[in-house]
Amino acid sequence: MWSFRRWRQRRILARHPVEDALWGRVREALPILDGLNAEEDQRLRERAVLFLQGKHLTPLAGVELGDEQRLFLAAQAELPLLHLADLNWYQGFHELVIYPDDFVSPQRHRDASGVMHEWDAEHSGEAWHQGPVILAWSGVQASGAWEGYNLVIHELAHKLDMLNGDANGLPPLHRQMRQSDWAQAMQSAFDDLNTRLDRDPDAEPPIDPYAAENPAEFFAVTSEYFFSAPDLLQQAYPAVYTQLQAFYRQDPLARLEHLKATHPHYRAP
Ligand code: ZN
Repeated sequence: MWSFRRWRQRRILARHPVEDALWGRVREALPILDGLNAEEDQRLRERAVLFLQGKHLTPLAGVELGDEQRLFLAAQAELPLLHLADLNWYQGFHELVIYPDDFVSPQRHRDASGVMHEWDAEHSGEAWHQGPVILAWSGVQASGAWEGYNLVIHELAHKLDMLNGDANGLPPLHRQMRQSDWAQAMQSAFDDLNTRLDRDPDAEPPIDPYAAENPAEFFAVTSEYFFSAPDLLQQAYPAVYTQLQAFYRQDPLARLEHLKATHPHYRAP
């Protein structure tokens, strides 16, 4: 069937070709893309271009974004959507504001007794409900390796979470998925992480303790691990890995295992 959307996308892609050498440099800077097959690689390349045409990147003073930097960011943004239907998963926001480094932003929280607390907190990223995504370029640059850290995927996971209301750790699930399975897997892992941290705040938790903040952060942090340290996530919380695999329709652990099997020194510590 003829689709206006697809026709428009073809036209954008024809007008904004990405040279092989440029894409090669982007791929080289993003080990988490290693293991994608040729078809996935091509789709990611196209979707990265479409992402940059559909969103406005606003670099603040001190940030210079060339084509390579923009694609580096966009490829990470589109990786989670690679096997999701070509719907507008990043609808509801148009702008990504890029700070050079971590930034201070005012926080407000009304506690159970009704008292409003206000303070300033230093962040490397924020995703505003029906508003922009804010990223520290230093954090974006630190992303892309198999290290369990990915600022871009983290903040955009919040956007996926917000597609069906407030960020609460429950994005819109596919029809084949069961909300009770999701809730069970996420809640028990979240509780386990909190229990471990309560028991011994100095103990090395299996994943970034920031995940224990609330269910929204748990989803965002485990999404980071899913794509950038799938082995650690699978080992720590296999049921969470299974749910994220069903949601993102990808298996980054299989990619990583295959890379390690075929390249014995891959990701040597
Ligand atoms: Zn977050």
